[in-house]
Amino acid sequence: MTIQRNPTRPVQIGNITVGDGQVIAVQSMTATKTQNIDATVAQAEALRERGAGVVRIAVDSDKDAAALAEIRKQTTANLAVDLQENFRLAEVVAPHVNKIRYNPGHLYHHQRDKPWQDKVRFIIDQAKEFDCAVRIGVNCGSVDPAKKEKYDPKDSITPMLESALEHCEFVDSQNFSRYVVSLKDSDPSKVIEVNQRFAEQRSDVPLHLGVTEAGMPPDGIIKTRIAFEQLIGRGIGDTVRVSLTLPNDRKPEEIDAGRGIIEDIYAGRVRTVVNLNDKALNIISCPSCSRVENEAFIDLAANVKEMTEYAKDYAITIAVMGCRVNGPGETDDADLGLWCGPAKVNLKKGTEALGAFGYEEILPRLKQELDILIQDKS
Ligand code: SF4
Repeated sequence: MTIQRNPTRPVQIGNITVGDGQVIAVQSMTATKTQNIDATVAQAEALRERGAGVVRIAVDSDKDAAALAEIRKQTTANLAVDLQENFRLAEVVAPHVNKIRYNPGHLYHHQRDKPWQDKVRFIIDQAKEFDCAVRIGVNCGSVDPAKKEKYDPKDSITPMLESALEHCEFVDSQNFSRYVVSLKDSDPSKVIEVNQRFAEQRSDVPLHLGVTEAGMPPDGIIKTRIAFEQLIGRGIGDTVRVSLTLPNDRKPEEIDAGRGIIEDIYAGRVRTVVNLNDKALNIISCPSCSRVENEAFIDLAANVKEMTEYAKDYAITIAVMGCRVNGPGETDDADLGLWCGPAKVNLKKGTEALGAFGYEEILPRLKQELDILIQDKS
């Protein structure tokens, strides 16, 4: 599947580049105590070996910062640190990391009388001096209060967006373009909306995607997948993190989850209807999970692909889903939707139900409907 990626600029983070059509980087974070140097190095290395493009380490104190310097010497992972509320930490960590993340909504807590612009300038100066990239990380739970005040409390998206755009403009004015932006929320639909709106206005800025507090697998992966399908499917997103609640020794599963979701999207295995190709036939099928109602689903998905080959030049979306739980709702946006029951396959044209058919009857019935659609388009 070819996805037309947004034309973002390249941003180098250690030995990887994000943006500019590069492979989407998957990130994670250590969950060990940073001052436990051996454990943190082991986890950073485990994440790197599993394919993490960037590994974030928590630094909350001077002792953590001292440990970071030692960790840096013992791992080749590209490292990042989140400044949390202390922007001055930038000068302590920048010599040891490849990326610094700051949150615009956190710049108000320290030195309240200092304008935020001065604080960002300080961070950017450290990044320039120590060859670091920067992430402007906007989070739904800690949005700039001045931005929130301007809007209806029900509108959580516009203040996040405005804050990100304002910071991009300021960082640009400092002649610094080596930055990415993230706009995270715990609600996948808000993650989709805010990132889409940002990408419409700043298609040049690489986006780091994520759903915060996604939770434990499999639910956390499913939530994240929903957001990533709609964004990556539209060419938005240059780096991702799947934030999962996992015991320490299973942390690398975040990388597997991220890579798995990206691979599935590129292969058209999606849970939600995504228009991966608006000029040709778009066959999508869910990635399958324990809810699949009949093992014949896998063959059905393959057979639909094969049978519909003749219609490859028509802009039609066909969705094939594995169960009754998600199938009915998730196929609404497809031109033709199928979802599996234990003995029958349900068929829909847009939102209109056409009935349930045996596994051996469904392909000819689907073809009939597809031919009608083709005729309508001719
Ligand atoms: S549509 Fe059903 S079977 Fe397929 S991934 Fe979603 S929940 Fe699982």
